[in-house]
Amino acid sequence: MQPADFQIVELGDPRLRALAKPVTEAQMGYALDVAEAMAYWMNERGGVGIAAPQIGVPLQMMIIASRPNPRYPDAPAMAPLLMLNPQPQSFSETNATLWEGCLSVPGLRGRVTRPDGVTVQFSDRDGQSRLMELSGFPARIFLHEYDHLIGKTFVDRVDSVQDLVTDKVYFAQIARVTPPPAP
Ligand SMILES: [Zn+2]
Repeated sequence: MQPADFQIVELGDPRLRALAKPVTEAQMGYALDVAEAMAYWMNERGGVGIAAPQIGVPLQMMIIASRPNPRYPDAPAMAPLLMLNPQPQSFSETNATLWEGCLSVPGLRGRVTRPDGVTVQFSDRDGQSRLMELSGFPARIFLHEYDHLIGKTFVDRVDSVQDLVTDKVYFAQIARVTPPPAP
């Protein structure tokens, strides 16, 4: 199985609306192949996170990989983290409002309010159960990717459709940085 056997699934495809299923122990080998394809497409498209349904695989898997890149110039750097069967355990009481983009919603950004911290239980690539507290941008990535596991996208989360803008307007007028080349 190669990364090119998968494609990024875009908004309107019913696979983005399906509920992802837990990864079973018997599926671990397959899941690690899927994770490789997820990482490939995330890096290829300049993402800072990706969920398995975004490449058409209905499993509860995500990668969080905050790092500065042309699509997210201000993202803090962290080692990429694969989460299997992630479950949020608790949320911070404080919220943050940030602009989000999505590899499955090309060309659009939306302003979304979410908790700015979350505690997550998940299995790592060795199948070990882990508990992790995330805050700031990594928490935001988690909450965005977790939505993909329950059939939601950031477009469902904007307070108002007035909070949707094109990438071109976002980069020129909001982030005020040179836009990255179109993928
Ligand atoms: Zn997304």
